[in-house]
Amino acid sequence: MGLSDFGCGDLRWSYLRGMPVFYDTHAHLSRPEFEVDLPEVIGRAGNAGITRIITIGTDLASSVRAIKLAEEYPNVFAVVGWHPSHAAEAPEDLRPALHELAKHPKVVALGETGLDYYRLPSGEPGSAAAEVERYKARQAALFRQHLEVAAELKLNCVIHQRDSLEDTLALFQPFADRVRGVFHCFAYDAVTMRRIVALGSLVSFTGILTFKNGQNIRDALAATPMDQFMLETDCPFLAPMPYRGKRCEPAYVTETAAVAAQVKGCSPEELSAATCTTAEKFFGF
Ligand SMILES: [Zn+2]
Ligand SMILES: [Zn+2]
Repeated sequence: MGLSDFGCGDLRWSYLRGMPVFYDTHAHLSRPEFEVDLPEVIGRAGNAGITRIITIGTDLASSVRAIKLAEEYPNVFAVVGWHPSHAAEAPEDLRPALHELAKHPKVVALGETGLDYYRLPSGEPGSAAAEVERYKARQAALFRQHLEVAAELKLNCVIHQRDSLEDTLALFQPFADRVRGVFHCFAYDAVTMRRIVALGSLVSFTGILTFKNGQNIRDALAATPMDQFMLETDCPFLAPMPYRGKRCEPAYVTETAAVAAQVKGCSPEELSAATCTTAEKFFGF
């Protein structure tokens, strides 16, 4: 019998084992890395006290699959959207599809969306600059479409940004009174965290919090108010220590949580209560 058999109201605490419960607020269970052993992966998460997993779409196919998984597993919820790194393949207007997908009762936010300038197209010399501008404009248009639909449907957004902080904040700001964002995989300093929190949005931390060279991220978490952050894996990527470099999975949130509790100087139970409440409010489940 798994924790998922207890019904939603009791998912918060694992009374059976007396262990604190955490949520993986950002997983990519639709990815091929989980094709072979997904039931075991989800089972291990439950046994580790990870009682809710939010699986994130990165295009239409993976968003549809995220909803399917949410239908199949009571403790899995779906976020639907189109990742900025796949902007070139996105339909011109994603809004009708987002509206349609978001009707599902287990869709708890839109995304991941945002801007990613880490990998930009490199075209012919001379044409590259124009191509880069077109690509950035395409990402911006897609991001805005997510925000518009989120505002209409009163959903929040899972925001991905890489090497694009200022543009991401500038695009998000006009929607900040209607849409909250979680700036996921947060890897900036306390000053940036405060700018995000000031907009009514959240940050979330992955396994990089546990890396030896992650002190700047631990410092940012230390400065983050207890009710303004969540935990995630971004699996199959970014496995925390001691699994760094291996396939990541939702059960490993426990490793990130252990470091987070140390950084915050709180008990695992206090961290559990704070991060689970924050996630419940943000995703509305
Ligand atoms: Zn991301
Ligand atoms: Zn992701």
